[in-house]
Amino acid sequence: MDSESELLTTAVESRLAALEAAVSRLSSIVEPAFAVSNMAAPIAAASLKEASQHEFSGKFFALLDLGETLLKYSAAIAFASVVQTRGSQADGVIELFRQPPTLGKIAGGLREVLSQTTEINWPLDMVNATFRRPNKKPTPTARYLLDEFISIRNDERGHGAHQPEGYYEGLYLKNYFIIQDCVIASAFIQLPLVHVHSIDHRDGQYSYKVTLLMGSAATRMAEPIVTTEKVQTGSTCLWDRGLRLFPLREFVMYRYCSQCATEHVFFAEQITEDNVYLHSYIGNHRIVLSRAEQ
Ligand SMILES: [Zn+2]
Repeated sequence: MDSESELLTTAVESRLAALEAAVSRLSSIVEPAFAVSNMAAPIAAASLKEASQHEFSGKFFALLDLGETLLKYSAAIAFASVVQTRGSQADGVIELFRQPPTLGKIAGGLREVLSQTTEINWPLDMVNATFRRPNKKPTPTARYLLDEFISIRNDERGHGAHQPEGYYEGLYLKNYFIIQDCVIASAFIQLPLVHVHSIDHRDGQYSYKVTLLMGSAATRMAEPIVTTEKVQTGSTCLWDRGLRLFPLREFVMYRYCSQCATEHVFFAEQITEDNVYLHSYIGNHRIVLSRAEQ
C-alpha cells in the first residue's frame, strides 16, 4: 500500500472504533435498569427535559441542568449525612449555606465531606463509591463533575451573548456521553426517593405512608414502609427498600409550589436562622419556608 491509502485505512479504522464505542454506550443507556422511571424525580425530570429539546442550544443548557442536578443531589446526601451527626463538620455545612453557595463551593463541600468523614454509612457510602476509588483517588465522574463540568458551566452560563447553534452542537456532543456516564455511575440515584405523609404506630414500629418520587410522576405507594427508624412527617427521604430511611432534611424537599400550583422536588439554595430558600430546576421556581414550621 502507498502511504496515502495507508493513511486512509487508519482514518477509516479509527472512525469505526469511535462508532462502535458510541453504539455500545447507547445500548448501555437504553438498558432498562437506567430507564428514567428508575431515577429519582429531580434527575429524571432533568433527563427528560434534555431529551425533549430540539435545538442544540436548548439541549446543551438542559444538559448543564442535568449535570448541576446530579451534583446537587450527590452533595445533598453528603450534607444531610454530616448534619445528622451534629459534629464540627455539620457546622461547616450550615455555614456553607448561610449565603447561596456557588456550584464550585457545593462541589468543594462534597469533596471535603468525602475526604474528612471517618465513618461512612449508608447512603453516603454509595456517593463515596461514585466519587472516590478504593485508594481514595477521584473517579472519572469526580474529575469531570467536580472540576471540568463546573468550568464549562460557568463559562457558558456567563456568556452574555447567545452563540450560533453550531457552537452549542459541538459543546453538546462533547459533553453528552460524559454526563450520561456520570448518571450511570451514580447508583444512588436509583434508591427510591419518598415523601413521608403520615405516621402510624404499629407494634412498637413506625408505619409511614409515602409518595414515591421516582421517574416523571409522583405516585402514592400502596403499602406503607414499616420500620423502627424514626423520621418526621413531611420528610423527604431515601429508602433502601428495606428498613432504612434517610431524611435529606432541608437539602432536598418535596413541597407545594405556589408558582405552578403542584408539588415537586426542590433543592436548598440558602439556609438562614429563620428560613430555607428552595429552588427547583424545573420551571426555575423558588419558594421560602420558615424553619420554625419544619
Ligand atoms: Zn413549581
